[in-house]
Amino acid sequence: MRLWLSHELARQISHHALSEQPREACGVLLGAGEQVKRVIPITNTAGDPLRHYHMDERELARVIGGVDGLNLVGFYHSHPKSEPIPSPEDVKHAHYPNTPYLIVGLKDLNQPQWAAWRIDYAQVSRVELHIGDVPPPLDHQALSTRARIAILTSALIAFILMIIISLSLLPPAPPIPR
Ligand SMILES: [Zn+2]
Repeated sequence: MRLWLSHELARQISHHALSEQPREACGVLLGAGEQVKRVIPITNTAGDPLRHYHMDERELARVIGGVDGLNLVGFYHSHPKSEPIPSPEDVKHAHYPNTPYLIVGLKDLNQPQWAAWRIDYAQVSRVELHIGDVPPPLDHQALSTRARIAILTSALIAFILMIIISLSLLPPAPPIPR
């Protein structure tokens, strides 16, 4: 799984995160497949917004199912004073498995740190994050899996054809002498 966002969208997220400092900023990423096409800031209604985030439920409900033909492709929030690593609280409240959670860490204000994660029922794993204006290179692993399937399929077809051809080339059975 990967997440791709352009420099402009990354700028929108860091702008939102910096403008909310020292509170955590949060929002939704809409797009298609692995590509983010729109960043939607959501109000952080957490009781302690300096250390947590909770997305305003009404605002979230309006966009969670997608908007203008764009689908939900991920979530984002900021860590105003720490690394972009999911906190125990983030893990506990991650209700969308198989969905990237992008975090921007503002420990060093001059150099925001980015990381994306999958949080599948408390299982956390890193998601490859691509920030750039051109599409990321093809996923080599996926490509090799596809290639492997193609090779196996053609080998199987060749084998079946060989059996059919050799059966059709068999001479007729000799007459049984009486
Ligand atoms: Zn967090």
